[in-house]
Amino acid sequence: MSTMLEVRGLTKHFPVRRGPLQRLVGHVKAVEDVSFDVEQGETLAIVGESGCGKSTIGRTLLRLIEATAGSVRLDGEHVLNQPAAKMREMRKQMQIIFQDPFGSLNPRMTVWETLAEPLLLHGLATPKDVREKVSNLLETCGLQPWHAERYPHEFSGGQRQRVGIARALATRPKLIVCDEPVSALDVSVQAQIVNLLQDLQKQFGIGYVFISHDLAVVRHMADRVAVVYLGRIVEEAPAADLFAWPKHPYTRSLIDAAPRPDPNLKNDRPPLEGDQPSALYPPSGCAFHPRCPLATDRCRSERPVLRDVGAARVACHFAENVTATGQVEASAPP
Ligand code: SF4
Ligand code: MG
Repeated sequence: MSTMLEVRGLTKHFPVRRGPLQRLVGHVKAVEDVSFDVEQGETLAIVGESGCGKSTIGRTLLRLIEATAGSVRLDGEHVLNQPAAKMREMRKQMQIIFQDPFGSLNPRMTVWETLAEPLLLHGLATPKDVREKVSNLLETCGLQPWHAERYPHEFSGGQRQRVGIARALATRPKLIVCDEPVSALDVSVQAQIVNLLQDLQKQFGIGYVFISHDLAVVRHMADRVAVVYLGRIVEEAPAADLFAWPKHPYTRSLIDAAPRPDPNLKNDRPPLEGDQPSALYPPSGCAFHPRCPLATDRCRSERPVLRDVGAARVACHFAENVTATGQVEASAPP
């Protein structure tokens, strides 16, 4: 496998203005120095509580919002500073699927119009063969050719998400950002859509950035997982490793808080307390320290850097010393 998407130092700050004069009072640091790679045909999940910045990461990758700093390269080509014409060309390669397909599909356009438009716009179909290409797309996504004549409101939630996926697929993208693609769907339908995404990945070698707060779906879907807290990656690891032995206390608390497959399994760990702090005034040192059961004085003053720990990258002073049960070994440095 080869690196397809390379993200380095991605940062997004939103200015905050208050009062009658709209005075600048600070910046919400929504995304802070985020770096990761996605290989061809690979799924990198980005997880974290709502408001942690994971959707902003997805949107800045595609320039739906402009980044404050950092670089994004797709197959070696820079994305963030391309002029509009070149960007239109690159958009073909990078698509997005949203949580709410109803909100992202034009209610006044039939499925035919929704799918024919990108095909014709990007020169992927001619007026002669566009009907056949739309039919193929629908079938690839588990719909029927006659669905093309319908409007979004005539579909179920799962079918609508299939239309959203077909639209993303129309331009033959290398990368699809999936932003909570199944969160709005019934559990039974979720599995169908997840399976469809996996089939398409196998068939076309698409890389996914899979944004989700649902660890059960992530466990099923992801090759690697990046955990985001207050705009920063605090842990990134192969999915199996991360679930078996989370190295960052925040990752552990997310896993412990997730509903368990077997409700009889005892969970004797205390739940994660408190709310995520404001990204306008992030805590000193390690941003997780106000909620961390392992926090020490050092954590309150010194921010841990994200560094290699085995096959993972972890930003915790004690990452090397956290045992499989989440304790810090006695030999840990103070
Ligand atoms: Fe907890 Fe300290 Fe590690 Fe931060 S650096 S996660 S506060 S132990
Ligand atoms: Mg979101």
